[in-house]
Amino acid sequence: MTDMTIEPRTVPLGGLRGLQVDRTLPTKGLPTIGAWCFLDHFGPTFQSMDVLPHPHTGLQTVTWLLAGGVEHRDNLGSNVTIQPGELNLMTAGNGVSHSEFSLDASGSMHGLQFWVALPESRRHGEATFEHFADLPVVHEQGWEATVFMGEFAGQTSPASAFSPIVGAQIVVNAGRHEIRLNPEFEHGLVAVDMSVDVNGERLAQRSLRFIDVGAESVVIDAPVRTTVVLIGGEPWDEPLVMWWNFVARTHAEIEEARSDWEAGDQRFGTVDGHGGKVIPAPPLPPVILKPRVRRLP
Ligand code: MN
Repeated sequence: MTDMTIEPRTVPLGGLRGLQVDRTLPTKGLPTIGAWCFLDHFGPTFQSMDVLPHPHTGLQTVTWLLAGGVEHRDNLGSNVTIQPGELNLMTAGNGVSHSEFSLDASGSMHGLQFWVALPESRRHGEATFEHFADLPVVHEQGWEATVFMGEFAGQTSPASAFSPIVGAQIVVNAGRHEIRLNPEFEHGLVAVDMSVDVNGERLAQRSLRFIDVGAESVVIDAPVRTTVVLIGGEPWDEPLVMWWNFVARTHAEIEEARSDWEAGDQRFGTVDGHGGKVIPAPPLPPVILKPRVRRLP
């Protein structure tokens, strides 16, 4: 089994003066953990999130807040405020567009935003948006988990998932906890608030620990009560070409999505409330985009 630690790289979101985020997925040699193909960790920060309308294809966006509030609007007509402990799940299918603005620029904001790749059977389908304020909670001795995607410890999230998957926020008390995992899944564990020991090895705050398939459990040792986030799923076996906000299978599909967005094609609709302002697509790089390849050490 190959386990590894992914340290975050800092990326400006939405331009150079945009919110700084720490990105751990995709990373070199590890494009996915299950169907999870993207992970940004933002805040805690007093910077605001001001992300004008932009498109997505072939993925689900999973938004999970630990502090603050964000207003989501999309071309389906959604206008939803998300608070900590709630889930926003947008399924792009063939195409969707949305905007995200933090509610109160004077308040602190903290959260995670993930993408989940859609399988071939769903990625050409229609776009949908779901919001859940009530999610199942697992209560165990010394820890509790909110299950926001898929299945964990006997609880199942009501959110739509299209591959075997887990996404859960786990709050552990100080001390050592052995938490059972699905051995058919590979997993990723994010140290959200502070460093914790994972299977006897230090995991720095904001880093991601990859745990290969076959693990029956993970041991988390925390100095004080703290939060970690667990993601995972069956290893992903479809090719993924990812560029900007698009997840596809080929360079040609990416090119088409980009030109559809630039042309204002109805594929991506219109997000109300921004006076027609959108984020333009960057130029394509002068290479043929290829599927990302897994190469574990
Ligand atoms: Mn987005």
